[in-house]
Amino acid sequence: MPTNTRSLVTDLARAVGDRYVIWKPEDLLVYEYDGSIDRATPQAVVLPGSAGEVAEVVRIANRHGAYIVARGAGTSLSGGAVPLRNSIVLALTRLTALIEVDAESRVAIVEPGMINLHLSQLVSHLGLFYAPDPASQKTCTIGGNVGENAGGPHCLALGVTTNHVLGLEVVLADGSLTWLGGSQRESTGYDLRGAFVGSEGTLGIVTKIAVRLLPKPETIHTMLAAFRTMDAASDTVSGIIGAGLVPSALEMMDRKTIDAVEPFYHPGYPADAQAVLIVEVDGLKESVEEQTEVILEICNNNGASEIREADDVATRAKLWETRKGAIGAYGTIAPTYYLVDGVVPRTKLREVLQQVDQIAAELNVTVANVFHAGDGNIHPAILFNERNPAEVKQAILAGARILEACVAAGGALSGEHGIGIEKQAYMPLVFNEDDLDAMARLRTAFIHEDPDQPIGVPSLAERFNPGKVFPGGAVHGEAYGITRESFRPTGTTDWQ
Ligand SMILES: Cc1cc2nc3c(=O)[nH]c(=O)nc-3n(C[C@H](O)[C@H](O)[C@H](O)COP(=O)(O)OP(=O)(O)OC[C@H]3O[C@@H](n4cnc5c(N)ncnc54)[C@H](O)[C@@H]3O)c2cc1C
Repeated sequence: MPTNTRSLVTDLARAVGDRYVIWKPEDLLVYEYDGSIDRATPQAVVLPGSAGEVAEVVRIANRHGAYIVARGAGTSLSGGAVPLRNSIVLALTRLTALIEVDAESRVAIVEPGMINLHLSQLVSHLGLFYAPDPASQKTCTIGGNVGENAGGPHCLALGVTTNHVLGLEVVLADGSLTWLGGSQRESTGYDLRGAFVGSEGTLGIVTKIAVRLLPKPETIHTMLAAFRTMDAASDTVSGIIGAGLVPSALEMMDRKTIDAVEPFYHPGYPADAQAVLIVEVDGLKESVEEQTEVILEICNNNGASEIREADDVATRAKLWETRKGAIGAYGTIAPTYYLVDGVVPRTKLREVLQQVDQIAAELNVTVANVFHAGDGNIHPAILFNERNPAEVKQAILAGARILEACVAAGGALSGEHGIGIEKQAYMPLVFNEDDLDAMARLRTAFIHEDPDQPIGVPSLAERFNPGKVFPGGAVHGEAYGITRESFRPTGTTDWQ
């Protein structure tokens, strides 16, 4: 072990205990990855057991001039938890407590390492639930959801993570501990909480989260409709939204996804189905019945070849299981997936999905689609073999072209997975230099730089999650030989 790492590890072990510091090369391997295709080796991994220990770890890192990357469950799909620049990984997985629940005010305070689904399970007996439900909710943490401003199938009607976070306790780059926002529904002053949510671990480490809980709906009705074309399914989505309805969830799967899930879950979808929609409505019984009637009519008008419906918990779970298990099932088609995350105006869904098909055909890549159709958040999954460098290059190129198509259609670079390493080269597609500069300056607003800082010690401004979000920080796919020159912020079609 290099001398500087040895003394860092010694200090970290003194702060959190020997068994909570990982430094052996074979043990560090696990922390090289998240859910994206990028990877990098950390200098060490530390697992603090309290907010006080998190603050102490930050102060130790400052003394050693080390960078820090916060990590929840490591399911980020944009490289958010990958430790660039030999950073220390600060894993929050020991901080899993439900600290407080106020059922009357419908507020809970949780530690950041709590698994998303556990919160709803823990407050279920109070008739409450936590709304943001990423498809990874059995694994991902609420701290990681704050980092990425995560969404999920049921965020269409209820809003994404930022709409459910009331306040945050955070450790800033100088090791100080502060609250942003509050634990009540209203708070005054600048909305620094809002700036933190979705900041991808670049502004500080979240150590407590005050979240809004919602009452469980009286009635839930789930419908699954199969269509013979993607166009018919896309038109159904536009029809439902155009009718002024906002279902609690509106999700789509294409034929390749159906092929991937059939052997696992045996749903027996029609052999000629090219797309399946899941539509869920909830609320008061009468309102649910009215909405169901309109939705079924729109599905039938667009030629649905089969419709299934469910009201009880077990049958609804059965309708959802293919959607929730779809990404894992892609393993039957190829060993690796690159799940692209772009947003398009709902009226352009049909057109952009056709472009995705065209891009896949032109670049000879396999693309499967499973996505949050209701909010125009598409997730083309590019399926490839990472051991074949040519396939990796094609996958990254296809991702670039899909994101360009989303932006060209008037959409956005990310619906929920963040920018991380993956999308930073494309930030200039949507932001000019002044926009990016304003964001970079916000980062420095959260730090007190030490005027006597020794020369050579990195600025505190990049102490957390260096090389992420901003263009030029890192290269997507570098581990596979992709170079900075390979990327062009616009006109990536020239990159062959
Ligand atoms: C199969 C699958 C399905 C998915 N479905 C969805 C989906 O439906 N919707 C969706 O939005 N995402 C989805 N994701 C992506 C991912 O699960 C989310 O981005 C999730 O929020 C990441 O949580 P995590 O605990 O794994 O965080 P990590 O991956 O560990 O970290 C994510 C980011 O947050 C930062 N971070 C983590 N903890 C903290 C903290 N305490 N303080 C400050 N920063 C922190 C990290 O530095 C990193 O930048 C999916 C991923 C997979 C693999």
